[in-house]
Amino acid sequence: MTTISKEQSQPWAQSGRQPRIAIVGAGMSGIAAVVKLRKAGYMDLTVFEKEGRVGGTWRENRYPGLSCDIPSYFYQFSFEPNPDWTHRFSYGPEIQAYMQRTADKYGVTPLVRFNTPVDELRYEAPVWHLTAGGKTEVFDVVVAATGVLHHPSVPEIPGLEDFAGEKFHTARWQDDLDLSGKKVGIIGTGSTSAQIVGAITEQVEKLSLFQRTAQWMHPLWQKEYGPVWKFLLRHIPGLSKLAYWGVLQSIEQSFVRATLGNKLVLAYVAWACRRNLEKNVADPELRAKLTPDYKAACKRLIFCSSFYPAISRDNADLVTEGIERVEAKGIRTRDGQLHELDVLVLATGFKVSNFILPTRVIGEGGQELGGRWDGTPRAHRAMSIPGFPNFWMLEGPTGPVGNISLIMVSEYQVDYLISSLNKMKRDGLAAMAPKQSAFETYNQAMAEAVRHTIWFTGGCQSWYLDKEGVPNIYPWTPARYRREMRNPDFNEYRLMKDVAEFASEPDAIAESMGAEQAVAA
Ligand code: NAP
Repeated sequence: MTTISKEQSQPWAQSGRQPRIAIVGAGMSGIAAVVKLRKAGYMDLTVFEKEGRVGGTWRENRYPGLSCDIPSYFYQFSFEPNPDWTHRFSYGPEIQAYMQRTADKYGVTPLVRFNTPVDELRYEAPVWHLTAGGKTEVFDVVVAATGVLHHPSVPEIPGLEDFAGEKFHTARWQDDLDLSGKKVGIIGTGSTSAQIVGAITEQVEKLSLFQRTAQWMHPLWQKEYGPVWKFLLRHIPGLSKLAYWGVLQSIEQSFVRATLGNKLVLAYVAWACRRNLEKNVADPELRAKLTPDYKAACKRLIFCSSFYPAISRDNADLVTEGIERVEAKGIRTRDGQLHELDVLVLATGFKVSNFILPTRVIGEGGQELGGRWDGTPRAHRAMSIPGFPNFWMLEGPTGPVGNISLIMVSEYQVDYLISSLNKMKRDGLAAMAPKQSAFETYNQAMAEAVRHTIWFTGGCQSWYLDKEGVPNIYPWTPARYRREMRNPDFNEYRLMKDVAEFASEPDAIAESMGAEQAVAA
């Protein structure tokens, strides 16, 4: 623990100074946080970024075919409409350029400490001690904007280390690698894999796709935007907003309803996916292998029009026989066959239970976030955790992440954070954290509601499920989440004026740690 002066530990809302806010991560939610917090008058901001550039997922993912299956006019910041999107569904490099441009334009970039991963966050009421790059500093508020899909999941397949060719995870793409004339193997059949298969199959000598589970795929209605439309967007006031709102409504009324259990929309999605498969895969044997045995939209629905034509090509092989092991020359499947490969791509997804972990986060009473979650991360309204005062997450556990714009979700969450800071300022609070009781009520309601969603009833395994097999995802409509974020109920929070007094109350600490943990302690 660092020794700090009395002045440094004086609650910001009682001393009239600006709160020192640390934002961990300079991806899209970190950028949104800086822009909106500054607009709201919170100016003392420091961003810690583990890599050398802003952009988060769009910086890390550089694989061929990378694109966003959420429409461009919806996958943008509300404060930075872009009339120049070239396509209805933007390609990765264009989104990364937009992130960088926005960060530069709004003065985010100079606030970022690049190549500075945060090692530890320790709460010493009412401030956080943040350790990064061997240095410990004090902040009043911490915002974890670390994203969900950023820790590559590398499968435990025997012999993986023995492979003699190039081998990498999709989020670690080798930029200078020429795939022409190579035998390429891809393990995994999620959204990432579908985009890569669609992009590279034509150029490689042979593409072997190792499928453990077939996926339902909806066509992606891609379209290039012409100069007239871009001109209109630029010059007609409100047209950008209308485009944003139009896409929001169309998604909320269609795929969102499907995932939440609307039978009619689900029937449409199922029909559209089956038709997509039948129309684009002529070979009945291949079609059978590509047909999932669970309901459409149970896993994160894939939107892709390039996959079926690519996997139907003569140089593509869909391997459904299980993987026995990896050898120096390729992959041996359980039927004894060796699939020779020059390059092995792991399209095996991400460790989704980590969020800000493995950063050590230590809250009240010395409780560690990793221990508290124990592989089953939960949060109050996807943003805060009992026992971790003045600590907020963007895109934290239990948020709405299924087939909608995460930029929109992050912006709602930043608005909620700002309302909370304003509340602290108005009431001269030293700290706030959700009550254990409110956290439990919210999570129990969620656990009940999520059982009616297709993620639970659809009969599949997916990254939405936690280690207990329960979807760790917001089970109501984004419109409801929007209302909740706009109207915080501060009765759900412990609002602490005098932290020293609070810390000496055993009952309050017990509540903050949760009953069982307190008993064990
Ligand atoms: P993913 O959806 O989690 O898919 C991982 C794939 O790897 C699955 O097919 C899985 O098989 C397979 N796999 C994992 N371990 C394996 C093993 N040991 N042996 C064989 N197969 C294994 O990952 P992703 O495709 O990277 O996508 C993750 C998420 O990123 C998406 O769901 C989406 O939210 C987001 N994303 C979005 C876009 C976009 O356009 N907006 C694009 C790409 C990604 P099983 O199905 O059998 O588990």
